[in-house]
Amino acid sequence: MKLPFAESFKIKMVEPIRRSTREEREEWIKNANYNLFNLRSNQVFVDLLTDSGTGAMSDRQWSEMMLGDESYAGASSYYKLKNAIKHITGFDYFLPTHQGRAAENVLFSALIKEGDIVPGNSHFDTTKAHIEFRKSQAVDCTIDEAFDTELDYPFKGNIDVNKLEKVLSNNPKEKIPLIIVTVTCNTSGGQPVSMKNMKEVSAVARKYGIPVYYDSARFAENAYFIKMREEGYGNTSIRDIVKEMFSYADGMTMSSKKDAIVNMGGFIGFRHKEVFDKASVYNILFEGFNTYGGMSGRDMNALAQGLYDGTEFDHLESRIGQVAFLGQMLRDKGIPVQYPFGGHAIFVDAKRFLPNIPKEEYVAQTLAVELYIEGGVRGVEIGSIMADRDPVTGQNRYPDLELMRLAIPRRTYTNDHMRYVAAAIINVFERRDKITKGLKIVKEAPILRHFTVELEKV
Ligand SMILES: *Cc1c(COP(=O)(O)O)cnc(C)c1O
Repeated sequence: MKLPFAESFKIKMVEPIRRSTREEREEWIKNANYNLFNLRSNQVFVDLLTDSGTGAMSDRQWSEMMLGDESYAGASSYYKLKNAIKHITGFDYFLPTHQGRAAENVLFSALIKEGDIVPGNSHFDTTKAHIEFRKSQAVDCTIDEAFDTELDYPFKGNIDVNKLEKVLSNNPKEKIPLIIVTVTCNTSGGQPVSMKNMKEVSAVARKYGIPVYYDSARFAENAYFIKMREEGYGNTSIRDIVKEMFSYADGMTMSSKKDAIVNMGGFIGFRHKEVFDKASVYNILFEGFNTYGGMSGRDMNALAQGLYDGTEFDHLESRIGQVAFLGQMLRDKGIPVQYPFGGHAIFVDAKRFLPNIPKEEYVAQTLAVELYIEGGVRGVEIGSIMADRDPVTGQNRYPDLELMRLAIPRRTYTNDHMRYVAAAIINVFERRDKITKGLKIVKEAPILRHFTVELEKV
């Protein structure tokens, strides 16, 4: 018998979680205005809202916390992190920030001006918001295969190089400050970008003289997929793959709350000192002095160790294996989920799950609310609420995909929790014909509205 994968850790500390009744959950979600972000965490049994900052740190990370150097300037923790970033990514210069969007804020302040165009593969919501906030435009150049949730294609995060080249050749160079490649591509379902594609993007970008930055939150998961799926990389170590990936970029933004397995933190990596110098000014203005940015010394230490933890093959195998374990249980029951499974989450195709709900009634949000009521499982909508209104026309944007994302925190839940989640989804699926009414918005913010939106049942 082939031995199955098993978690690459054992548990040293536990946090109790509590089940609730359906009646309690119906009351709680109503009081939360049908916005899952408004629930209290103790009203949730299995929390798959996000894999961001929700992972469990290792004993090595916790011991690093005790060694943190809290000096304002020149702390040893800064140099420890600098060495880890250089060792793992190859970038010589870096700025610590308090999380990923802060890295975007600082970098974009240095690079993007009004009227600019920023091509990439399905920009992440905060990335897009930071671009649009600067009255610039994010242009999605993802391959068409990404939008077919059934199609078995190994690298659905890839950039369509023809689409990219069209944008680069149709616009003046001064209007395109950078290209952003998101690895893995969160918005298109945690789907990886191939090494070949990164090389091609880099070649096109060089031809037009445009820098390439990686939005790198899940760079290690991307490397794992390259190792498992891309020809020629089966015997290459994760760390060597990571090094090669970043060799095609001019810099990176990082939300360390993902693959570096810390609860808070981020950074920007740079190849060129000129851009680093320019961004440093904004880092000091928005985040803090360059040797701590938005982080305490102990947090930088834990992050440095997390970069090593997160790029271990055994960790990635059990983490991505657990995501696929959940996905396969759903797929076996005929539930429409994106395939191949992404690295950090399972994405349920809500339009196909609930065909009776019109898109104006927020299909994926409706499904996420139903799942919460069913089992106290919290997922998140990646659909038209998150897509915000068009900043120019003020009209709702309806993306091709309405997804309910179930993001799996790293090293946090067991496979029994995954079985519980699968059972709750299967129960909703079996009563899907009775779900005929969706939700309507009663209050919303002008940007990133999904965090605070208030809804009621139609
Ligand atoms: C999480 C994430 C961000 C933003 O990072 P925060 O730490 O949440 O601010 C940016 N890009 C991608 C791809 C992400 O997954």
